Amino acid sequence: MIEKTLILLKHDAVYRGLVGRIITRFEDIGLKIIATKMLLPDEKLAQNHYFLDEEWAKAVYDKTKLSYEKDGKIFPYKDHMKFGKQIQSWNINFLREGPIIAMVLEGPHAIEIVRKIVGSTEPKSSPPGTIRGDYAMMESYAIADVKNRVLRNLIHASDSTKSADREIALWFTQKEILSYKKDLDKHFQDSKT
Ligand code: ADP
Repeated sequence: MIEKTLILLKHDAVYRGLVGRIITRFEDIGLKIIATKMLLPDEKLAQNHYFLDEEWAKAVYDKTKLSYEKDGKIFPYKDHMKFGKQIQSWNINFLREGPIIAMVLEGPHAIEIVRKIVGSTEPKSSPPGTIRGDYAMMESYAIADVKNRVLRNLIHASDSTKSADREIALWFTQKEILSYKKDLDKHFQDSKT
């Protein structure tokens, strides 16, 4: 169950000086940083990261629709691919607007744990105690919609083993990912390793 996951501290986290506080949350629970870099991604990398396929477009569409309906509002968009393309294009621009810190974290159940600490896609719906809830709670679908822009939610985290593998390979080469032991490892790793 030792997993690797990718996080991106987007430029809103960097510009707001939240990098240390965010990383501390992951270190505090014992996750291991095994790769990190700061960069300005080019268009191809940003586009591949937010890769537009049917599954992603549908998920983004459904999540947004649900949130509109919860707020008693009518969701005016009909075509999930068209909607997904718009969100993808906003994301590509946003990722390229400023410096990003990319990082690979490793640990037992890392993917699920990191998503839990990050919180919901919409910061307003993210509980206090999560990164998005604590540092961005005033941000909502309603505001992003009026302003025609992406939700400024500070951080990206892989949502499954499949996306973690794909995303880690996009942002890091094998050589940039290190392996080392931390004290906690002896409680989690196979004794033969
Ligand atoms: P998450 O980052 O929580 O995994 P998604 O993969 O569903 O979320 O979406 C990727 C990013 O696209 C989100 O983090 C958010 O910044 C942005 N986004 C998603 N849906 C919307 C929307 N309806 N309006 C504006 N931005 C959105």
